[in-house]
Amino acid sequence: MTFIDQNTEVADAVPAMSREERQIRDYFWATMGLIWQRQAIFGAAAILTMFYFDPLKSLACYGAVLFTELNDLILCRRVTREPWLSERKCRMYKRWIIFNTILSAVGICIFIFIVAQQQSIGGHFTPLFFLFAAALFAAMNNHQIFSVLAVRLSIYAATFFAIALMDIFVVRPPLSSELWLHFFTVVFVLYFVIDCSFVFLKFYRKNMRQLEDLQAEHERTKAAYRVKSQFVAVVSHELRTPLTSIKGSLDLLNSGALGPLPDKMKPIMNIAGKNSARLADLINDILDLQKIEAGEIRYSFTPLDVRELVRDSVEMNRGYADSLKIGLEYEMDERDEAYIRGDAKRLAQVMSNMISNAVKFSNKGGTVVVGFQRHDDLVRITVTDTGRGIPEDSYEKVFGKFTQVDSTDQREVGGTGLGLSISKQIVEHHDGIIDYTSKMGSGTTFYIEFASWSQAEAA
Ligand code: ADP
Repeated sequence: MTFIDQNTEVADAVPAMSREERQIRDYFWATMGLIWQRQAIFGAAAILTMFYFDPLKSLACYGAVLFTELNDLILCRRVTREPWLSERKCRMYKRWIIFNTILSAVGICIFIFIVAQQQSIGGHFTPLFFLFAAALFAAMNNHQIFSVLAVRLSIYAATFFAIALMDIFVVRPPLSSELWLHFFTVVFVLYFVIDCSFVFLKFYRKNMRQLEDLQAEHERTKAAYRVKSQFVAVVSHELRTPLTSIKGSLDLLNSGALGPLPDKMKPIMNIAGKNSARLADLINDILDLQKIEAGEIRYSFTPLDVRELVRDSVEMNRGYADSLKIGLEYEMDERDEAYIRGDAKRLAQVMSNMISNAVKFSNKGGTVVVGFQRHDDLVRITVTDTGRGIPEDSYEKVFGKFTQVDSTDQREVGGTGLGLSISKQIVEHHDGIIDYTSKMGSGTTFYIEFASWSQAEAA
């Protein structure tokens, strides 16, 4: 028999993201995230240049830049819709991104160059600053794919040089003139932009490596968890089969169906019977927990009559309560209707766990009362005992796995410490809550609470 975590199987059906795919997705994520910021920048630049320079030329350039933005947006949408990208698609999208980058960078540079042309020689403060801002923006936000960043920055760098050299070419000034100073300043600024790009690129790559390490660790943990789950499931099953026959034989012998047992044998057989029952409980609990954690439990949700749930659970546990001489009653107004939506079998398991605990931890002669109340749209089912109570701050022990409030060797009552942990997971799968109130020496009330269903909904 194989036990496979179905959730993991589904997750494994989509291959882990490759480095290239992550870069492409990160690139578009950044592009989409800054879309309005870019529009504001382009808009402001267009208004400025339209006011101070040739409005028609500025408007045409602005239109061209918007067109490249639209191209990017279309590509972005396409990639976002793809659940995963094959190597071939990664290459295709990368080429597409580079093409768009060339279009957009050339568009921006033509815009800036036209502005520079309309200015007097040596006075290119505005276009050079525009270009500097564009280059810094790219270094900060478009560094995910190195080749894309390199293409964009190369186009910007060429424009930087073109604007600075244009004046030198026309005037042919001596090296001591301001125009050469402008040129060297441009070189300095370019170096600064490239340095900035490398810093951002390094940060991004470091983050990506850390993410990949984490992912690999996660895969290893998942694999180890799968092996552990299979191991637990197989071992528990292999134990359960022979144990069922041992327990059955012991029960048969203890019941006297095969003839009376010698008096000397009786206590030993009794202990053997009780311990085999404990072992069977433990194995069943472990199997349940393993199934819940592996997502293998199938819930079948139906409308449930709360009165019926309470009544049936009480009757199911009456034998156990009688054997410990504890009273077990239900307290409810039969006319008070309440419905919830749930899995009858699993909720009966939760009820049995709460009731058997209440019985188990009751003092001799005590009584356990089961009932329910409705508060607005909620139904609360309660199991109240007058037993020893639970000390404060024991929540983790009560609902933890393999934990008990009294875990000493001297404890009088047995148990696996798994029951309430399983119950909690079942109740939470019903979008409900399970909790308790308790007073040491006076008793405990465990309760589960669910959204109520109106009769019409239940019908
Ligand atoms: P167990 O198999 O030990 O009963 P559970 O998960 O059902 O495991 O319960 C966990 C622990 O919570 C118990 O061992 C006990 O210490 C405490 N507990 C649960 N119900 C009660 C109760 N009604 N009264 C006192 N203690 C309780």
